[in-house]
Amino acid sequence: MQDKVRVRIAPSPSGNLHIGTARTALFNYLYAKKTGGTFVLRIEDTDALRTEQAYVDNIFDSLKALGLNWDEGPDVGGEYGPYTQSKRFDIYPKYAQMLVDKGYAYECWCTNEELEHEKEEAVKNHKAYVYSRKCLNITPEQKEQYIKEGRKPSIRFKVEHKELVFNDMVKGELKFDTSLIGDFVIMKSNGAPTYNFAVVIDDMLMKITHIIRGEDHISNTPKQILIYEALGAKVPEFGHLGMILAPDRSKLSKRHGATAVSDFVKEGYLTDALINFVALLGWSPSDSHEIKTVDEIAQDFRINEISSSNSIFEYDKLNWMNGQYIKKMDISKLTDLIIPFLSDYDLSELSREKLEKMVEITREPLTTLKDIKDDVPYFFGQKVPYDEVKDLLGTELSRNVLTKFIELATSWDFCDEEKIHNDLADFRAYFKEKYSYKPKETMWAVRAALTGRTKGADMAGIIMILGKDRVISRAKDGLNLKIGA
Ligand code: GLU
Repeated sequence: MQDKVRVRIAPSPSGNLHIGTARTALFNYLYAKKTGGTFVLRIEDTDALRTEQAYVDNIFDSLKALGLNWDEGPDVGGEYGPYTQSKRFDIYPKYAQMLVDKGYAYECWCTNEELEHEKEEAVKNHKAYVYSRKCLNITPEQKEQYIKEGRKPSIRFKVEHKELVFNDMVKGELKFDTSLIGDFVIMKSNGAPTYNFAVVIDDMLMKITHIIRGEDHISNTPKQILIYEALGAKVPEFGHLGMILAPDRSKLSKRHGATAVSDFVKEGYLTDALINFVALLGWSPSDSHEIKTVDEIAQDFRINEISSSNSIFEYDKLNWMNGQYIKKMDISKLTDLIIPFLSDYDLSELSREKLEKMVEITREPLTTLKDIKDDVPYFFGQKVPYDEVKDLLGTELSRNVLTKFIELATSWDFCDEEKIHNDLADFRAYFKEKYSYKPKETMWAVRAALTGRTKGADMAGIIMILGKDRVISRAKDGLNLKIGA
């Protein structure tokens, strides 16, 4: 019988959650969803020097924000915890000892200097370095001597030389010559496990059935399979995802733009758009609709259809997709997300209702939430700067339009957007008929006076949000600019 699918994401908290790790998490999550399996989060913090609690928090928050909720993990627990490697340090030595007892591993007493020397020799002889196995068969006397010297042993795995073949879910059949690997350390002399050992013990004890991860781990996989075999454990299925490259085909890095999920969020990307976008880095939908929720993607997801090649992170496409999500998002939710980007303005000037209206009428051209900041200054404060529209306001047309506008708008109903819309239409029609002004010229004059700009959101909405006092006083400012000039 097929084991129940158990997959995991196992980030190392040495940085904020990388967008590549988010994609790996997503593909694991999708596979669990698709198969009715379990998605596990394990924090791999064996490298104490590079681990920070802030990064652990960031990983939790980012995965949650992306909707990648785990079934078992450090915070929610589960049958196979603890789910943080540093809390599992008492588990690893006994498995290492088991391997030593069975002859699959041995103590290595070499000092760093001795190992460095071996490496230098290999370089000198133009050979790839593999450990010399100097400690494989040491005598009890030698061991005694090392102990006396105060040396502490590491434990090395004794690599069996063979051709190792496995069928990768994404890459297909992969073959390795294990004689090139060299006996590798599984427990350091300070008692800490190495990544390759801890990961196998944890995946084995957590009953992980499928390991989906980046192809940067392919070279680790033969080592890990050898450990499974030595332990007599079932080897899980592996699937290695192609890398995510920058548009210039180099490794995606900060110089190309944001790379951590939380940085994308700070830049004004929506997590729904982000997760949709990263799904397309290696996976394609069976229909032509790229905009999909994670649930929709899960239904359509097949692991063996993941592309085995690298994917290019097209920031332009992400921008487009983000814009699509901004246009479709529930206004109240969008307003909540936009508020942090409006810290330059005194938001208490607008009621929640007006704020939402402002978001509704300004969202259309946005690619990121951050963009809104430059599009809305005229909704705040009493006056607007006229530097950009001085000439426009100085024309006879503008003077005519604004004089009439002040006269008529004074009696408009500023609470009824629909009515304002109709009043503006009548207003344009009046000038067209009487003075042959083009409707857009009439509106330019009004817009210039009320916003200090020639382009922007829908005028009826702007007028309603600004309210009567500010509309009339700015219209007068625009008119007076001409008189005073
Ligand atoms: N902690 C490893 C990493 O962040 C996990 C690798 C794996 O999935 O086995 O790269």
